Amino acid sequence: MSRVAYVNGAYVPHDEAVVSIDDRGYQFADAVYEGVTVRKGQMVDLEPHLDRLARSMRELAMAAPMDRAPMRFVFREVIRRNRISDGFLYIQISRGVARRDHAFPTTPIVPSLIVTCKRLSIDGVIARAAKGVKAFSESDIRWGRCDIKSTSLLPNILAKQAAKEKGGFEAVLVDSDGYVTEGSSTNMWMVRTDGTLVTRSTDDNILPGITRATLKKLAEEMQIKVETKAFTLEEAKAGAEMFLSSSTGCATPIVELDGHKIGDGTPGPVTKRLVEAYRAYMEA
Ligand code: PMP
Repeated sequence: MSRVAYVNGAYVPHDEAVVSIDDRGYQFADAVYEGVTVRKGQMVDLEPHLDRLARSMRELAMAAPMDRAPMRFVFREVIRRNRISDGFLYIQISRGVARRDHAFPTTPIVPSLIVTCKRLSIDGVIARAAKGVKAFSESDIRWGRCDIKSTSLLPNILAKQAAKEKGGFEAVLVDSDGYVTEGSSTNMWMVRTDGTLVTRSTDDNILPGITRATLKKLAEEMQIKVETKAFTLEEAKAGAEMFLSSSTGCATPIVELDGHKIGDGTPGPVTKRLVEAYRAYMEA
């Protein structure tokens, strides 16, 4: 069965879906996006994703292409038309099509909305979490508004590629003071040797991850002590456990960082509890 994409009002074969070369998303990465996990046909944490999308648009003075209700309808329709049970829904909104000029167009333009969905084995993600992954630290060379989920992702791409070439699954981004900011497309967590879970504040120039917020809530419900505080790369290496979180990665243990074992080099007990709690949450 061929894939179907939604592009500016039409459902079209994925391979034939196109946008204008003058689209500001294409020209300037003047666009925002969201990625939503689909588990057993249901979108996980859809409303917080829509809240974050609205916030990203607001921060960039970008108009919404449509209201929430029709947007939810389009998402469900893309999932249905692609017959996705477990997958990844991608939503991108750009400022729209205009003659190339850095400043915003002076006359109102229609924002572009594209929605696609691909199959993603959530069971595969959970199976990977049982083993854990390797990560490598890379310098965080991004801008000062990483709270906005924009498609301007070159520094993230370069970091991920560098980590991949070393045999890693993810890059751990580190600022000039030695503090871990986040991953190239994930939020970062560590567990101290006293069992405290630590993750950086989302007020601190990182993406406010939806999975991060859910895991934080689940951890608190499980009476795990959570500290919202930046930690250094050295602290992470000396910690008991480490993991990443994202919509596509759920909670995935990091068992090796820069070739150094975290804890005993296998997923630790706190992380394992959170992986299981998140798996159950996705299906609730
Ligand atoms: N940080 C960055 C830079 C990301 O790109 C992502 C994934 N989009 C995340 C964190 C995780 O966010 P979420 O849990 O909402 O997928």
